[in-house]
Amino acid sequence: MALEAFPLIVHDGGTPESWTGLVDVGHGTFFTVSITVPEGSEGFGRSALKCDARLMELVQGSQELLQLRLVQSGSVTAFLHEFRAYVLRVLPAGTDSTTSSRSPSHFADIVREIDGLGWQYVTQIEADMSSVELKVSDLSERMHKIRIKIPQGYPNIPPTVVTSLPTEMKLRWFAHSGSLKSILRQFQDVLQDFNGLWSELAEFDQRAWVLEPTEDMWSGIMRRVAITANTSIQVILDAAHPRALPECHLLGPDHTVAPLRERFNASASTWNAKKQVIDNLESILGMTFMSPAEVDAESLSVECGICYSYKLDGKIPEKVCDDRRCGRPFHQSCLVEWIRALPETRQSFDTLFGECPYCSTRLHVRL
Ligand SMILES: [Zn+2]
Ligand SMILES: [Zn+2]
Repeated sequence: MALEAFPLIVHDGGTPESWTGLVDVGHGTFFTVSITVPEGSEGFGRSALKCDARLMELVQGSQELLQLRLVQSGSVTAFLHEFRAYVLRVLPAGTDSTTSSRSPSHFADIVREIDGLGWQYVTQIEADMSSVELKVSDLSERMHKIRIKIPQGYPNIPPTVVTSLPTEMKLRWFAHSGSLKSILRQFQDVLQDFNGLWSELAEFDQRAWVLEPTEDMWSGIMRRVAITANTSIQVILDAAHPRALPECHLLGPDHTVAPLRERFNASASTWNAKKQVIDNLESILGMTFMSPAEVDAESLSVECGICYSYKLDGKIPEKVCDDRRCGRPFHQSCLVEWIRALPETRQSFDTLFGECPYCSTRLHVRL
């Protein structure tokens, strides 16, 4: 929300709380100023005052005094009045251009647009209004963010958007009618399109033990779900047809994966696109997925037995020891490194032969 006395200063009540924007010191001169109050602090004692480089030069030697005045003034508006008066005193005659990379009228236009849109949607805003981030909830109250990069020359030059949706959002833009509001509406429409996909994914999250992803749950089309302690299935949905037979990969030791694969292949034709994906999978595999309520994380050995981490360079431990009593998972690259270091290792073409670091069962790994 813009301050009444300083319409180009925007207050963001989130954490950290901040006031950011332009201060008009008259004669067509504007300076960018931002005040940030860190989380959990009362008053302005630990607040940070920042302004643009040219203004910093002008107030050199007085930063501490300004900071002190900010603490003592008790309100940002009161401080900014004082700050403006101070800057006017130290400002050399003839200073007349704005120091912001964006013109004040551009800034004011964007503030007006956000006023029309509603500040409740804004999660982040650049001090020079070059980008604005909005958050919007979908039909099931899941939150999604969209970052709008506003170029110089907006609205004649179209803005660009970055979202965390499973597919890229194509913005329709008409210079004469384009606005932040129109972007918000388009984003809401796109969110509706994904609702079917997200309902399917959410069902996995509720009923199964999801190993992957662990964050950004709505930006992808994949879930990897535990079947046993060291066997899992990776399910990749079709964003356009979320209830269609998905691409599936079984991961784990041969003795558990082989029968599951056989069952899957034998029954895949019974896939019923009217039912939910997870129900179809359970009936095809002839099992019920482990629910997070019934199984604790300890019993799932999902970390690599060599480096003890789950993700390594973005990869998960996909190679599993075939011994039934062991069944340790390893990263491909960790296992290659381990086997290479063994004196008795053999290599034939692109395959290394060695032993499991835990149970000494013979195993091989592709290079
Ligand atoms: Zn590893
Ligand atoms: Zn083993």
